[in-house]
Amino acid sequence: MDHPQSIIDHLVKHRDRDRLVDTAFLLIDAPSPTGQAGKACDRLAEILEADGFEVERPDGGHPAAPAVVVRFETGKPGRTLQFNGHLDTVHLPFVPARVEDDLLRGSGASDMKGGVAAAVEALRMLRDSKALTAGSILLTAHDLHEAPWGDGRQLDRLIREGIVGDAVLLPEPLSDVLPTDGRGCATWKVRISRTGPPVHEVMRPMDEPSVIAAGAELVARLKRWDAKLAEIVHSICGSASVFIGQIHSGEIYNQYPQECRLEGTRRWLPGTDGRATETEFRTLLADLARESGTRIECDWLFIRDAFHLDQADPFVSIFQASYQQISNRRIPLGGKPFVDDGNSFWALAGVPAITHGPRAGGQHTVAEWADIADMERVALLYALTAVAYCASGRAQTEDEEWPQPAPYPI
Ligand SMILES: [Zn+2]
Repeated sequence: MDHPQSIIDHLVKHRDRDRLVDTAFLLIDAPSPTGQAGKACDRLAEILEADGFEVERPDGGHPAAPAVVVRFETGKPGRTLQFNGHLDTVHLPFVPARVEDDLLRGSGASDMKGGVAAAVEALRMLRDSKALTAGSILLTAHDLHEAPWGDGRQLDRLIREGIVGDAVLLPEPLSDVLPTDGRGCATWKVRISRTGPPVHEVMRPMDEPSVIAAGAELVARLKRWDAKLAEIVHSICGSASVFIGQIHSGEIYNQYPQECRLEGTRRWLPGTDGRATETEFRTLLADLARESGTRIECDWLFIRDAFHLDQADPFVSIFQASYQQISNRRIPLGGKPFVDDGNSFWALAGVPAITHGPRAGGQHTVAEWADIADMERVALLYALTAVAYCASGRAQTEDEEWPQPAPYPI
């Protein structure tokens, strides 16, 4: 089930590399640390309005940076394909946009303003080429993605308000595999404390609990728990885990400290209850507090639920075929190493979501880059996938033929 080559040629004629790079520059040069992406959202809305699209700005419970929504509709029945991206970036010093050796650089170039620019270019290609013959495109962009400053609640709200397509493409920096499964993730911060003041070790009351001993016991219990989790292996994702990334206590060698702090993550497999794991974690802490005579507090931040892609959905085979036709190779199936908005689309709406963006790197550093030629490829891939996916009716099965393209002006 190949696309006619003429559709690809026709779409390519309506792709504009300079316009794509200009869009990415404008987005990058609107700094947008998570929680403060208002300027970048406004900038994207201005770009789309200047292009003649009608833009909606639902705030999704975050009025400081209302989301950006465009519905491009053909008026003919068919599916809605959503292009979704986040415009916020991690909290690092701002790096302005520049091009160097055909690479786009600057804050968010990789994660994920380069990808959002490619999705916008796909939208323009579909509109200008008139290649989309049925169904519609829903473009959404938002804030509050990057943890720990954001936890996805703006997008969650949009999904719950029904601003969601039948399938979603996410141009995050992942291009070498088609991710079918991913673990859910929460971060945790634990503070173990005792009631007495800081005191010289020889002056301490002998019944005063040791926060360092309690911290060490917590490390040992979490290690045993992690080993138990490792017994169950998912073929794509590996195992669930409980991980400790930091432990701190004490001021000098002979002072009896008042608190011990630990931080880490908890990841779980698709098909398991991510919320229940918080209860399990808190029960473990309550047992330890009682046994050690310490007080234990915990901040638990639920980041995203686990991810699964239903490979029986026709969206998947259409995406694979479109990829193969453009790249002359099959995209291998694989795991999603990080959590992203696709996890929310699957967990909250049961919608198939494919994370696929430009070849890029340096995400979560000050040295982000995205390959401009690959941004062009992604724009074409998104447009081509949309042509076939949107035109096929909701009742269509994966065995049916590709829709016949309507005649279009060259
Ligand atoms: Zn991202």
